Amino acid sequence: MASDMRPPNSKKGGVPSHARVSDQACHDKFQSCDGDGKPSRAAVNGVSVKENHGTCSSNPDHAGAVLVDGAKGSIAQSGHVDSADYDCAGCLHGENGSPMACDLQQESDRDQAGHTLDDLFFFDDEEEDDIDWEPSARIVENRWFCTNCTMPNMDEVTHCQNCNDHKGSEVLAGYDVFQASFAQAALISADTALPPGSTAIGFDEQMLLHSEVEIKPNPHPERPNRLRAIAASLAAAGIFPSKCALVPPREITKKELLMVHTSDHVESVEQTKNMLYSYFTSDTYANKESARAAKLAAGLCADLASLIVSGRVNNGFALVRPPGHHAGVKQAMGFCLHNNAAVAALAAQKAGAKKVLIVDWDVHHGNGTQEIFEGNKSVLYISLHRHEDGNFYPGTGAAHEVGVLDGQGFSVNIPWSCGGVGDDDYIFAFQHVVLPIAAEFAPDITIVSAGFDAARGDPLGCCDVTPAGYSQMTSMLTTCSEGRLLIILEGGYNLRSISSSATEVVKVLLGDGPCYGKGAAAPSKEGMQTVLQVLEIQQQYWPVLVPILASLQAQQGLALSKYGPAKSAHGIETGVLFKQPLRKTFVAECWETFVLECAP
Ligand SMILES: [Zn+2]
Ligand SMILES: [Zn+2]
Repeated sequence: MASDMRPPNSKKGGVPSHARVSDQACHDKFQSCDGDGKPSRAAVNGVSVKENHGTCSSNPDHAGAVLVDGAKGSIAQSGHVDSADYDCAGCLHGENGSPMACDLQQESDRDQAGHTLDDLFFFDDEEEDDIDWEPSARIVENRWFCTNCTMPNMDEVTHCQNCNDHKGSEVLAGYDVFQASFAQAALISADTALPPGSTAIGFDEQMLLHSEVEIKPNPHPERPNRLRAIAASLAAAGIFPSKCALVPPREITKKELLMVHTSDHVESVEQTKNMLYSYFTSDTYANKESARAAKLAAGLCADLASLIVSGRVNNGFALVRPPGHHAGVKQAMGFCLHNNAAVAALAAQKAGAKKVLIVDWDVHHGNGTQEIFEGNKSVLYISLHRHEDGNFYPGTGAAHEVGVLDGQGFSVNIPWSCGGVGDDDYIFAFQHVVLPIAAEFAPDITIVSAGFDAARGDPLGCCDVTPAGYSQMTSMLTTCSEGRLLIILEGGYNLRSISSSATEVVKVLLGDGPCYGKGAAAPSKEGMQTVLQVLEIQQQYWPVLVPILASLQAQQGLALSKYGPAKSAHGIETGVLFKQPLRKTFVAECWETFVLECAP
């Protein structure tokens, strides 16, 4: 796993250490093969090569993928990867086509090695130089992986100790039923007469083909079953596809992608279709189908946005993957290849929207989306996410990141200071920050980067938002942009949590009232502190916040702000993204959080 996922052109060494990692990260089970084919530890400029089933991973300083063609026993590089930086010629490939990893880095780089899923799953103290270590053997040894949440469980237990789902989970049981009806469903065409207030859904089964090929000791959380589970849930609720208009699948064009990403990035994703599998970062995989899946995801989002802005449908839900909000101008990361929300925002503007609001309620900061729009005042980006002073992946999204140049004030970050954040904190932040700013901005369309990894039961997010909470947030956002609302799936890894949450969201899109039964939200102490901090910083850009801050301060008995004047404290340059180095890998950070904070 990567120890430091840095933005292009950043320098190594600035990555904050992660104290909780140290105990187990030093297991450092990254292994690769040396010239003799024997396993040895290695890392590729900070991105580690994994085990003896590993791949060569790209240097994150280069916005390209290193591609391993196991079938042909050859290796190729794409994007900016500079062969002078390292030489993959030493890579070995097994007779069965499985690529062997290459030894590419000095031993000293091991100090930078991060936390692997293996470290988190298998808490033994094997010697680091145990060349007989076999991940495949460990996969089956006394453990089963929960279908619902992917967490490992000991054989003797019948219910997952994380989510309580049964070993023989039936969470996907309804997908067959959905499939039959989906195959018969009509797609929107130019001639389709859509009733007023229609809800459109974008989905295509080809996005299920994007999956991790490499055999790992544990399932990758961003897996095809996420879409199957949500589709099955929507079908069981009788709302998809029967009550929704279906958007025809379309691959986004290169021209559209180039409005968001560099040509090198677009090309590096495109090249993955020629390889058995490849990695942009150690947890951002691609297989032969990934480029198409990513283009379908972006294309569906773009067309949904266009349909909504044109008024043909009222709102929409993009049931898509791979997710997008970590994908920046020139890099894929955090399971994201193309930035779907950004592509949709620009498609909305092409269709006539002047101002676009993006609300990102994924538990992780959408660093890619912020980067793409940080200097653009026509796209307002508001994100609620765990941050913890940069110690939660990806490390960006501090409250003082407000955008740059003309875009100052058009990035609004609501950074939670701890895990466990629930409905009340989210809804309180919506009431006191998101909706007031949205009302003042007056967007023509609202796009939600809707990760459901802040949901109760999520193995990575470790927060506590319920389906009713998501329902309430969706309902609140329907008051913006005259109801023109596009929900785009981002993260979310507990299948039951994401299914029930997405289903409640779509019910609101279809006109149901929110199912959140409480009145005024009572925030936690930490949640209140975060909201006050954000109000302090953003009030200079959004005057509507001034009386809200004053009111809350009065309620809190705060005669003087704890945070001081925002401008002098943070200044113009604070809006520059990546001033704070990106954290280690997405998976390692998140699973570590689970193990250390959520596990009983
Ligand atoms: Zn589970
Ligand atoms: Zn996320």
